[in-house]
Amino acid sequence: KNKASTRLVGSKDENSDGKDPPFDWKKLFSLLGPHIWHLLAAIAASFVVAALNIQIPQVLGSVVNVMTAVMSGKIVENFALAIQAPAMKLVKLYLAQSVFTFAYIYMLSSVGERVAAQLKKELFASILRQDISFFDKHRTGEIVNRLTTDIQDFKSSFKLCISQGLRSFTQIVGCAASIMFISPQMTVGMLLVMPSIVVVGTIFGSVLRKFSREAQIQIAQSTCVCEEAISNMRTVRAFAMESQEQELFARETDLACKLNERLGLGIGLFQGGTNFFLNGLVLGTLWVGGKLIASNQIEAGDLMAFLVASQTIQRSVAQLSLLFGHLVRGLGAGARVFEYIELEPNVPLTGGKKIPYHSLFGDVSFENVTFSYPTREGQPVLKDFSLKVPAGKVIAIVGSSGGGKSTIASLLERFYEVDEGRITLDDFDIRKLDPSWLRGRAIGFINQEPVLFATSIMENIRYGRPNATDLEVIAAARLANADGFINSFPLGYNTVVGERGATISGGQKQRIAIARALLKNPSILILDEATSALDTESERIVQEALDQVVHGRTTIVIAHRLSTIRNADIIAVVANGHVVELGDDISLRRKRGLYWTLVQQQERQELEDATSN
Ligand code: ADP
Repeated sequence: KNKASTRLVGSKDENSDGKDPPFDWKKLFSLLGPHIWHLLAAIAASFVVAALNIQIPQVLGSVVNVMTAVMSGKIVENFALAIQAPAMKLVKLYLAQSVFTFAYIYMLSSVGERVAAQLKKELFASILRQDISFFDKHRTGEIVNRLTTDIQDFKSSFKLCISQGLRSFTQIVGCAASIMFISPQMTVGMLLVMPSIVVVGTIFGSVLRKFSREAQIQIAQSTCVCEEAISNMRTVRAFAMESQEQELFARETDLACKLNERLGLGIGLFQGGTNFFLNGLVLGTLWVGGKLIASNQIEAGDLMAFLVASQTIQRSVAQLSLLFGHLVRGLGAGARVFEYIELEPNVPLTGGKKIPYHSLFGDVSFENVTFSYPTREGQPVLKDFSLKVPAGKVIAIVGSSGGGKSTIASLLERFYEVDEGRITLDDFDIRKLDPSWLRGRAIGFINQEPVLFATSIMENIRYGRPNATDLEVIAAARLANADGFINSFPLGYNTVVGERGATISGGQKQRIAIARALLKNPSILILDEATSALDTESERIVQEALDQVVHGRTTIVIAHRLSTIRNADIIAVVANGHVVELGDDISLRRKRGLYWTLVQQQERQELEDATSN
């Protein structure tokens, strides 16, 4: 009955059920290094709390003993006076317990928060410097998850394990010693019963953890559906897919709901069962203890102390088993975070030669380049590709779609490394040049879909060179034919463009992008289908802007519409991974080769479009 929905939910995250990388303890210790005193103080405070918790049952017991003694007439003096000493001790213990509880929680959370913030910053910095192929391989959601959910999980389990883990462990040991001291008989009885609950609890616990994991994955899945729909709302609307998306989301959400309900059922059964069992244990202790009191082997206060101490043990054991799940989850999350932090890109962001501005000509040359994308190894896009682009010339790269034209631009930007051959700029292998200088200063890159950030037009243009003055920004906008329309906005350069620049037209967006690229005053300009997404009128305006700015720069134009590149100095026709024809428009037409065929095809197409309108 769900066949109306056509979109399948994408594959799960690589790591959601696959293996996590091993945990890097050295990295954890180096992160904790600067906070070691805070951490040690927190640990010490938590031990103090444990030690106090161990003493409390005994003091409670002595209070009870005084009471029964007064009631049975063994103590004749004033009740208030008799109870004073043990009661005051109890008050002091409780007070100290509160103060130290506060201290360790506060200190531990401050260490946890600082470590998490540090991790977040390191992780983001590491993500920013990864190779472009990293972003081909990993989905955005997966990367963002490491920055958010994984760090959150790691932080909370780190805090829990240190605070509750140490405390529970100490309490178990301490209280076990004291109940042994109070009544070895009852302790042995308890020891005989306890292991069974530990075994049952562990089994049940692992089932619950499995339920919880499955529920989490399903929740992530349903979030994925709505995220994708919301961020691609225009496409959803344009295909009238609202009800399908709604149905898909409902299906995923219902499944998540069912899994969570199953988890709730399990937790309920577990809690109910444990309570029943533990209360049975209390009754049993009262029964055995009562007999011991009757035969004068222990006092009422001792029974009280035994009950409280054994309950402390039970609580601590329960906490430890819960903590185990947290520990596993935290280590997994931490390992995933560390994995990305430690990941080194093949091409570092900086380092290498920078050619001084005045001695940069802009001669570009591809020499016998062979390249396949890291995600599709063994399928070369360029094969023994050679092309010379003389300084200051406009070269157009044409060919059928998927032929590798954009790849040529990506390689020149050094988004990817060539497998064989080399690319040179003024006879320097670009692998010897500083990548940040190459991308940030030498090359201006304009593609089909300019991205504007959610800030003012002024800042969007300034993105090209952060230290440019307002006047320089305006000059670049003039050169890009953008000054006119920007000034026609009521807020001018301060107009904030939407999340994706949705409030301005495609042609205007493109001219802002051109201004941004021009602000660098690049010697090399790459125009990758810069006008393909525009209507004829916007294309004409943007083309005018482009014609102005290519002067004096080596320009590589990748164009689908051949009519726009007729004036290029050189036209290179690319097919099967190399250049098959090279020349200017007239000579290539005369040749009647591939270029001529492509031109004929397009002219026929244009004619058909014109007549059908
Ligand atoms: P053109 O610009 O001529 O249309 P491209 O350079 O974009 O061609 O693509 C050339 C080939 O490389 C195509 O087969 C395309 O599917 C593939 N390709 C492009 N980008 C990537 C990528 N990031 N990862 C893997 N393959 C890619």
